[in-house]
Amino acid sequence: MKNDNAREELISYISEKGFVYGPSPEIYGGVSGFFDFGPLGKLLKNNIENTIRKEFTKFQFYEIECPIVMPKAVWEASGHLSGFSDPLVSCQKCKSIFRADNLISEQSGDEVEGQDNKNLEKYFDGSKIKCPTCGEKISSKVSNHNLMLKTNVGIDTEMYNRPETATTSYLPFLNYLRFFRDKLPFGIFQIGNAYRNEISPRQHLLRGREFTQAEAQLFLFEEQKKDFEKFSEVENLKISMIKAHGKEIKISLKEALEKNLLKNKAYAWAIGITYSLFKEFGFEDSVLRFKQHEKMAFYADDAWDLEINLNSFGWTECCGVHDRTDYDLKVHSEKSGKKLVAAKENGEKGTPHIIEIAMGPNRILFSILDQCYNKKETDEGKTKLHLPKNMAPIKAAIFPLMKKEELQKVSNKIFEDLISDFVVQLDESGSIGKRYLRQDSIGTPYCITVDYDSLKDGCVTVRDRDSEKQERVKMEDLKNWLGKNI
Ligand SMILES: [Zn+2]
Repeated sequence: MKNDNAREELISYISEKGFVYGPSPEIYGGVSGFFDFGPLGKLLKNNIENTIRKEFTKFQFYEIECPIVMPKAVWEASGHLSGFSDPLVSCQKCKSIFRADNLISEQSGDEVEGQDNKNLEKYFDGSKIKCPTCGEKISSKVSNHNLMLKTNVGIDTEMYNRPETATTSYLPFLNYLRFFRDKLPFGIFQIGNAYRNEISPRQHLLRGREFTQAEAQLFLFEEQKKDFEKFSEVENLKISMIKAHGKEIKISLKEALEKNLLKNKAYAWAIGITYSLFKEFGFEDSVLRFKQHEKMAFYADDAWDLEINLNSFGWTECCGVHDRTDYDLKVHSEKSGKKLVAAKENGEKGTPHIIEIAMGPNRILFSILDQCYNKKETDEGKTKLHLPKNMAPIKAAIFPLMKKEELQKVSNKIFEDLISDFVVQLDESGSIGKRYLRQDSIGTPYCITVDYDSLKDGCVTVRDRDSEKQERVKMEDLKNWLGKNI
């Protein structure tokens, strides 16, 4: 955990400015792990989701949408009902309950996520981990807490909110197969909410009980992974990678394949398009790295996480790329009794494999704000958010130099013209300097001022947030100008 101050400062800033409020509902005291996205936060989140849509669509994934609530049988088959849990400990003295692995890593700095309960218990025995509430040494048994959020459908049918979009995306496999005319590989993706009944989520948007996921699945036969042609489009990307138990190296995807760091072209392609997507969000190379899982699920062929180095929380997982093999379609074939198979080129039937890219738009949103807030300029205590222009919630603000009817009229006209294509704001109150500061503080890339010269020459002054340079632009060209610059 990196910097408590940086974390609190960021969280209060993004609440004050209208990005993320919470925990929600605030006026009832709030429930941890639930948040409201304010006007700017929702615009930013839409920009993130639309970028995901655009990029996945470019790579020929088709968007789908499935229900959030699914029957018990689905989660029995997927293994979530029996195995999807967090390790808990309780304080003998005050009875507070904590996530065992988090408590250890917070107090000792040791990374113990994924270790089994026996090992965690040994850790508590051999160390002085204390109860954060009352200070008593923790020495209780570690028990499992299932993370599935249960609900009732109809009168008393037990069903569950999905803990990820992924499982729901696998189930209509036979319908996809018909749509794609029985031809593999094909890709689909889904953006939607998921739920995890965490015991005490304390990492703001990084760990919510309700959160948004964007997950893409590539369905293909095992033998199609090796000669996956589209790999050539991304093979020269250079990426920082850490193999399990290894050191960080910067390497092109092509080399990573040659050196067997990655197993096949299809998987390497998934790593490559994930990386390009995060570059689209505006993250710099120096804060991005892929890290291989040290402990993989028994069925997984390979698993790497994309991590971002946050000022508030340090290296944070923001996306996972997993080769899930044929595990999912096989378990759902067995449980449902429907054969989730497809015909190979030679006519034989087989169960396709799934390569999955799974990310959380809420985490990405928090990470973007974390990175841009870091670059704030603090002269006179004023903050400037250097949001990437494509991510900025408000693209431009329009200021009449003074509250005079002739200037307001022209400003209104510009507003009406631009609002059909861009989210823009009209701001008439306070000095121009104050209005610049207000827009800088929420990351608006351009401010447009209508002055008395505008009435004569038909031009306005456009001021760039980052360089603070001003440029005269013809009013009739404004729309094109903005389109080009954003
Ligand atoms: Zn206690």
